[in-house]
This record gives sequence, C-alpha cells and structure tokens, in this order.
Amino acid sequence: MLRKIISKLAPGLMSRIEAESRRWFMQCRHCGYEISVWDYGGMRYRALGTVYRFGRCRNCGKSGMLRVYLRGDNSNTPVGPE
Ligand SMILES: [Zn+2]
Repeated sequence: MLRKIISKLAPGLMSRIEAESRRWFMQCRHCGYEISVWDYGGMRYRALGTVYRFGRCRNCGKSGMLRVYLRGDNSNTPVGPE
C-alpha cells in the first residue's frame, strides 16, 4: 500500500528504497529461512544495525521474532548521502 503511494509520488525515491530494502534480510529463528525485506512486502531505508521484528515465517509458518539484518555489509553504514 505505502509502496504504491511512494512509487506514484516519487518514483526515484522508490527505486532507492527498493535497492536498499533488497539488501536487508529477515531470518526465521526457527528454521533459518531468509527472505529479503522487500520480498516480504516491507521496506527498510536508511536504517542501521540489526533489529528484530515480529512476523510470520513464510517457510515454516511459525510466528515469532525475525532477525532483520543488512547482508553483505559489515560496516553497518547506510547508503551514502544524496
Ligand atoms: Zn521458519
């Protein structure tokens, strides 16, 4: 829902949000399944560090805290300034 609004109002911003959201992954603590925040239907932009979000795993179907972390970036530095 929010994605549609943003993509209409600011397509350039939307592509940046998408690129960044695809680098963030949510991992199930039960089965280890991982899915990108973007594929999960969410967005994560200009965020820092690892967080936990309550959600439901699409693989095992269990609800619980999903670890949300930035893949392939050990510096925890967000995409640079505009
Ligand atoms: Zn799972």
